[in-house]
Order: sequence, then C-alpha cells, then structure tokens
Amino acid sequence: MARYVGAECRQCRRESMKLFLKGNKCVTDKCAFERRSSAPGMHPDVRSKGSDYGKQLREKQKLRRMYGVLERQFRGYYQSASRKSGVTGEILLQLLERRLDNVVFRMGFAVNRLASRQMVTHGHVLVNGHKVDIPSFEVKVGDKIEIREKSKSLETIKQAIETLARRGGVPAWMTVNHETFSGVFSKVPSREEMALPIQEQLIVELYSK
Ligand code: SF4
Repeated sequence: MARYVGAECRQCRRESMKLFLKGNKCVTDKCAFERRSSAPGMHPDVRSKGSDYGKQLREKQKLRRMYGVLERQFRGYYQSASRKSGVTGEILLQLLERRLDNVVFRMGFAVNRLASRQMVTHGHVLVNGHKVDIPSFEVKVGDKIEIREKSKSLETIKQAIETLARRGGVPAWMTVNHETFSGVFSKVPSREEMALPIQEQLIVELYSK
C-alpha cells in the first residue's frame, strides 16, 4: 500500500502541533516544530479560516498522521467503530491503539510508529508465537507480542528500549518485559488512559455528514 514519504516534521507544522513522528528527536531541542512552528509552504501565514468543516478535517488529519494510516483505511476504522455499540470516537481511538505496529511502538521496541511498521513487515514480530507481518493486525486482550529470537540482537531495537523512558515509558494497559523482548496487551485502554490531544468528536461529525 502507498505510504506518505514526505518529511514527518512538515506534518507537525501543517497540523500546528507536535505529532511525535520521529521518536527521540521529538523530545529534544532538535525538534523542527520547536524551532519553527509556522505552516510549511510559500505562504505559511495563510491558515485555514477556521470553519467547522476545516476544524473537523484538521482533527482527522492529525489523528490519521499520528498513527500513519492512509485515508481509505482510516475511513474503514471509522465505519467499523460506528457499527459497534459505545462511543464511536472512543472506539475509533481504541481500534487505532490495537494496531500491531502501534502496540510494538508503545511497548518500546521501536522509536516511532514508522519504524515499528517496518519491523512488522520485515517479520521481526511474533503474536502468540506466530509471525505476523501485517501492521494493521488487530491485537486482542491477552495477546503476547514478542520479538523473534533472531531479531533480538538488532541494534535499533536495543536503542529503542534504552531510550523509551524519554518517550514516556510503557502505557498502563500493557505489561512488558524488555529482558525477554516480550509483552502482553492486558486491556483495551479507556479514553482517559489514552490521553491523546485529539477532539475525536470532530472526526465523528466529519464522517457522519
Ligand atoms: Fe514533529 Fe518535532 Fe517529531 Fe519532527 S521532531 S516529527 S516536528 S514532534
């Protein structure tokens, strides 16, 4: 599937907020957004007039870019969330959180979601003992995620684990043992636990028109 291949930092400037797409760089003074937060392009001062539609669209783009999901797949997540009983916006966030590439990133085995996506597609990750190379694979409560034996010596994984504390550590809804390169997705996080700077209700309004 096609992926966005432009500069990640440009996306943060476009959305006027840090999306933490680069990993360790995002929490240092090398962060491009810290240095220059204006919108990219020829006329950085020309921003959206702030219509309801514009706000909804920007919110959707922020969330989509955070998780590295393309438009069509993102819409699929929304449709799936809207068919389930419960609060659609919260379920949408939970579905994104349950993506295998996100779980691998959250567990600290990769510095960002792009790197964890690559790890998954290259076959470095096992789910319940079986290789799964689909980044969008939906992780279920109780699933054991681990790094394949041959891949445990990869420097990129070791470095990601060593620098995890800088990125905020492991979230409360998973238990991880970095010595064995494994972890368990213990529960689906609530909206409060996810603490994402997103107004998901705006996204629901956008898609329910
Ligand atoms: Fe965004 Fe800063 Fe990270 Fe670049 S370094 S992706 S601007 S948060």
